[in-house]
Amino acid sequence: MKRIGHWWGRIAGPLLIWMLIPVGVAGGTAAEIDRYREARERMVRTQLEARGIDDRRTLQAMAEVPRHRFVSAGLAAKAYDDGPLPIGYGQTISQPYIVALMTELARPGPGRRMLEVGTGSGYQAAVLAEAGAEVYTLEIIPQLAESAAKRLSALGYDRVRVRTGDGYFGWNEHAPFDAIIVTAAAEFIPPPLVEQLKDGGRMIIPVGSPFFVQTLMLVEKRDGETRTSSLLPVRFVPFRRTP
Ligand code: SAH
Repeated sequence: MKRIGHWWGRIAGPLLIWMLIPVGVAGGTAAEIDRYREARERMVRTQLEARGIDDRRTLQAMAEVPRHRFVSAGLAAKAYDDGPLPIGYGQTISQPYIVALMTELARPGPGRRMLEVGTGSGYQAAVLAEAGAEVYTLEIIPQLAESAAKRLSALGYDRVRVRTGDGYFGWNEHAPFDAIIVTAAAEFIPPPLVEQLKDGGRMIIPVGSPFFVQTLMLVEKRDGETRTSSLLPVRFVPFRRTP
């Protein structure tokens, strides 16, 4: 037994290293992947679970999606911090807690069709997709739409549909949606979005003026009626109407 253990140890060591090399080539070194995985798991525990996020799919998706790949290389080390991060063009990727909260409220899962307004980096869209949803996302800044589409497909989220356009009008062709997530603060709830919500559907949208306190609102549509409730004060970049 002793001799077999020794023999196996000599083979297994180099074999393990050899097996890790392709991973290293594909997405940074193996050590780097491990470091971020740990940071991500810590983020899930301390920022999400500790604040009451408890939907299993949401937590799993947040632990899986590599947030550091959605920001510039210079910001990767801050990707799992408890705050928003700049993504260029004056826009930001929301704090992990807010992304998780909006995801949980959208009740993600297989076969659920969702519209996101404000693709930005593509991070929120990736989290929804990772949680099982069929995702359509609209972005008003063409350069951001293009880079997010490339990033999403490079990371394997190639089923997410990204389009440049004013999200005010939604995406009628693929409506109705089980959930709509708006990631820019609107002064009022765009009526076309309410229309594109399924019966029983939910919309999560920050409402308020751009430079004051905004409120995260939940809009629920049932039997043709819409019910709106305020959830918590938030700060989002403004919802724009022209590219
Ligand atoms: N959800 C993004 C963060 C988005 S920041 C992420 O996970 O990275 C908000 C985004 O909404 C910005 O990229 C902004 O350009 C976009 N936006 C603002 N108004 C919009 C509109 N009317 N239609 C579509 N996108 C809009």
